[in-house]
Amino acid sequence: MISIDGSHGEGGGQILRSSLALSMRTGTPFRIEKIRAGRKKPGLLRQHLTAVQAAARVCQARVTGDGIGSTRVTFEPGEVRGGEYCFSIGTAGSTTLVLQTVLLPLLTAKAPSRIVLEGGTHNPHAPPFDFLERAYLPLVNRMGPKVRATLERAGFFPAGGGRLVVEVEPAAALSGFELLERGALGSRLARATVSRLPVDIAERELRVVSKRLGWRDAELQTHEERASPGPGNVLTLLLEHEHVTEVFTGFGEIGRTAETVAADATQACESYLKRSAPAGEYLTDQLMLPLAAAGSGAFRSTGLSRHARTHLDLIARFLPVPIRVEGGDAGEVRLTFGA
Ligand code: AMP
Repeated sequence: MISIDGSHGEGGGQILRSSLALSMRTGTPFRIEKIRAGRKKPGLLRQHLTAVQAAARVCQARVTGDGIGSTRVTFEPGEVRGGEYCFSIGTAGSTTLVLQTVLLPLLTAKAPSRIVLEGGTHNPHAPPFDFLERAYLPLVNRMGPKVRATLERAGFFPAGGGRLVVEVEPAAALSGFELLERGALGSRLARATVSRLPVDIAERELRVVSKRLGWRDAELQTHEERASPGPGNVLTLLLEHEHVTEVFTGFGEIGRTAETVAADATQACESYLKRSAPAGEYLTDQLMLPLAAAGSGAFRSTGLSRHARTHLDLIARFLPVPIRVEGGDAGEVRLTFGA
């Protein structure tokens, strides 16, 4: 049984979620201690508990320590089974993070899956749905399996109530890909969404995008989300290049002005535009898992965050695949998976 220290490096939920994914993928049991020791409220929150329970369901695992607040879990995986699953977090916790816990093993399961997830769909510190759909899944789909995600209802903190449906057509094996260049710029889109809030918030955000990034009216869109049970606001900037789409997000919150929300997203977009590597900060730490599991492939990244470094250390605990990190200009790196 592998022993994982949840306080290592970044000390967040990703250590737990990726341990679950890798354990299911490799059939290796693990024990984790000091779960989320680096966070204000350590231990399992509802979202992490749902991730543990979801993983256990997908592979009939034997689990101990699966309770709210628990800082120690043991997990002994069984056989991964594709099928119909519904995982409801019960709070506004991130559905996309729960999905990313179970997706890797389901990509190569013997049967297809249909997964319904309920909770938050646009959470700070997690991949928002648009990132999942437009940035992450198209790259996963280059590896053999076919995954389609549909947002039925957005869910924002604190009301939650979002719902997404994910269909997975598995492949016999994962094949790596090379993502070394962005390719030509295709389209740009800024989408400002409000739920149960004045649309003027979205309009102010788009004014910032137009002023700072110079995007044209046809590239700016307001969206009023009517099905979500609570208030919410998110600004999504999509940059579609030939080989990769990147998504930058500003999250509305009580007490934060529309201008500040827009500044977050535009700044992230501007700093990506100043560089040339295709994978930005978040894609970088999220692509490592499927490519390491495939055991082949390479990508260029705008740089390694602490999350990404912690993730590299964790992956090495479960998989014997060599991962080479080579430095480039201004902090950019190239990651190569396999010999
Ligand atoms: P953790 O903080 O350990 O729970 O991990 C958070 C995960 O969410 C990491 O994989 C991040 O890459 C991802 N993430 C956080 N913020 C964003 C964002 N704005 N867009 C896409 N992914 C994000």
